[in-house]
Amino acid sequence: MNKLTLLEQTLVQPSPLELFTPNWPGASDVTIYIKRDDEIHPVISGNKWRKLKHFIREFVDLSGLSRAEGSLPTEDSIRLISFGGGFSNHLHALGYVCYQLAIPLTVIIRGNYSSSPTPMINDLIAWNANIEYVDKATYKLRDTSEYLDTLKRRYPNAKIVPEGGSQLQALAGVSDLVTEIDNEIGTNYHTIITPVASGATMAGIVSAVEKHQHVVGIGVLKGQDYLESLVAKFLSKNNHNWHIEHEYHCGGYAKAPAYLTEFCHQFKSETGIAIEPVYSGKVFFALKKMLGQGAFVKGSTLVVVHTGGLQGSRP
Ligand SMILES: *Cc1c(COP(=O)(O)O)cnc(C)c1O
Repeated sequence: MNKLTLLEQTLVQPSPLELFTPNWPGASDVTIYIKRDDEIHPVISGNKWRKLKHFIREFVDLSGLSRAEGSLPTEDSIRLISFGGGFSNHLHALGYVCYQLAIPLTVIIRGNYSSSPTPMINDLIAWNANIEYVDKATYKLRDTSEYLDTLKRRYPNAKIVPEGGSQLQALAGVSDLVTEIDNEIGTNYHTIITPVASGATMAGIVSAVEKHQHVVGIGVLKGQDYLESLVAKFLSKNNHNWHIEHEYHCGGYAKAPAYLTEFCHQFKSETGIAIEPVYSGKVFFALKKMLGQGAFVKGSTLVVVHTGGLQGSRP
């Protein structure tokens, strides 16, 4: 059996769909489910697996991964290159997948962590990733053709995965999440709530829901209009059944004010479900606030996507 099949057998798919009944004001007016993508895999968690799935399958098919087992990769090996910060859930998931499948991987990391690697970076090192640290100005160039051309010259047989794994191909993998929900509870639910950073996860969900359904994005960074443009960029049709809430970034990307970390701890102790301040913490914080404000139609059914990814909260 091939390595990818073996790896996929370790994933929990479909991910669990669980009823959620917090004793929060307003919660009893609606039915709430949590789509537990955080349970897909301890490392390749949540939306990052969904976004990578089709790409990795295709890459493995095309490359055939012909390198002899055990031989060291060279600059012209078939390889993947991707980008992220020092706590990137995407690089962590991709690093693990590449390690398991023996795919050479180069990661371009924003900021120089060589003297104090994060736990995420230490994992990448243990998984044999080739790490390049770049400054913020260089990192900003990551989607420009000039910069990508220099990478391609250095690594002629590399395939480049955008930051977050967010490419058009990612949408199909994310839309499976909606199919899984439909298979379990039918399509008679009204709202899906999901975090938004690069927008591919939200776009994948929007592309899969039906007309009577609405997708609420929780912006995890300051980005009124910007986040909308990221989501819209992935959508070919003119979908209108979605919007983004901008009140819950809690100060900006990866900002973790005390009230938010406290909320995450309390949530974990009340529900047994781990959340972290970068993504899922903001989503559940927003949910609690919005329920208290009566933001959802009484009697309606909501599905909250727990996108997993706990790199931002590792000690
Ligand atoms: C990356 C990530 C997101 C953001 O997804 P986008 O597709 O970039 O919007 C949300 N949740 C978690 C846990 C993530 O790791």
